[in-house]
Amino acid sequence: MEGDLVHLAGTSTSKDRISYFFDPQVGNYHYGPGHPMKPHRLSLTHNLVLNYGLYKQMQVFRPRKASEEELLQFHSQDYIDFLQKVTPFNVSTFSNLSKFNVGDDCPVFDGMYEYCSIYTGGSIAAARKLICGSSDIAINWSGGLHHAKKVEASGFCYVNDIVLAILELLKYYPRVLYVDIDIHHGDGVQEAFYVTDRVMTLSFHKYGDGFFPGTGDLFECGEKTGKYYSVNVPLKDGIDDAGYAYVFKPILKACIEHYQPSAIVLQCGADSLGCDRLGCFNLSMKGHGECIKYVKSFKIPTIVLGGGGYTIKNVARCWTYETSLLVDSPISNDLPMNDFIDFFGPDYKLHPNISTKIENQNTRAYLDSLKVAVFEHLRCLRNSPSVQMQVVPVYEDSDDEDDVDPEIRMPQSLLDSTVQHKNDFFEDDRDNDGKNTTFNEPFPIN
Ligand SMILES: [Zn+2]
Repeated sequence: MEGDLVHLAGTSTSKDRISYFFDPQVGNYHYGPGHPMKPHRLSLTHNLVLNYGLYKQMQVFRPRKASEEELLQFHSQDYIDFLQKVTPFNVSTFSNLSKFNVGDDCPVFDGMYEYCSIYTGGSIAAARKLICGSSDIAINWSGGLHHAKKVEASGFCYVNDIVLAILELLKYYPRVLYVDIDIHHGDGVQEAFYVTDRVMTLSFHKYGDGFFPGTGDLFECGEKTGKYYSVNVPLKDGIDDAGYAYVFKPILKACIEHYQPSAIVLQCGADSLGCDRLGCFNLSMKGHGECIKYVKSFKIPTIVLGGGGYTIKNVARCWTYETSLLVDSPISNDLPMNDFIDFFGPDYKLHPNISTKIENQNTRAYLDSLKVAVFEHLRCLRNSPSVQMQVVPVYEDSDDEDDVDPEIRMPQSLLDSTVQHKNDFFEDDRDNDGKNTTFNEPFPIN
């Protein structure tokens, strides 16, 4: 099943077994000048993850691209046909751009379809890694594009890798909990599973004042069999770490207790941080990371995905910090030397002060009212029929990873985009002889 995965590095030594999926090509796509979504943030993140040495705590894979057949598990044939055929050079010959909501927010750019196949391939591979039982947590920072719909693009998202990963999980797990801490409502995922009880969606987001996408009110709670299985926590401008934890922790705990999910998919959009180019929340990286820590504490198989995040140096800091939380390996506040060190000045810290002067409009009384309303919805679940276990295919982990030739190194394409300057990488305080240890280990490929 995972025969074309490339096992790149590392063995898991932490308590949780962590898989990490990254294709360096993903950072090279470009939405166009001035567009806030910059896939380059994924290269920044990966570079920090490598230079902090976190790869040693994980199994690192380059996932294969998602196939057309896989994308069609959720998306319509005519939409996928369109994504495959349209390019910046022939875009004027297509009369159906508006039909697929392609244009301003979701521009046609060079390699768009391939970009979608790459980030989606990572999320599907992450799902399979959990299913085969060889990982407890699977990370794909390139994924998490939660706005894409079955038949159209939305909010910088073209293919909904999250829905596809959850569909994969549902082949094996009876119940999946989706948790979304992006500042925007996880509308595409909610919509996909709005009428089923096999997936509970839980989204914390800014709501009101016309904020994109305009959905995610408290009272959107699902329909038919899915009634009460969509949970929304609409927040106001300026929420800080304390206020966020005040709603996140008890609501997540209640959802897990009531729903008993067999797997979790966590979307970690970093536009909920303070100082985000498009956001209006006031979370620090530690406050954002606290959510990841809390999800992890339940010890349920979890996929961790990226999402939004538009002040890209802080996106990279945040997801690197969260990788360290996931592998239980504290990292220094001083950023290691890396290819993109100039991005991180003038402080060169992992945790710079990113708080803003945006007023926190979320009063204690307002947050209490949200908790009361959500708990009330969850109580209604008691009367819902329990999910029937289905006979599902059990995936077995690929043997390929164990049979690889240990002498074959990481492909050149990976080295190209993760190159380090010799003498600049110090593994830790004791290793200051300038020896570049990052790529001295074998990177077997099959
Ligand atoms: Zn967002």
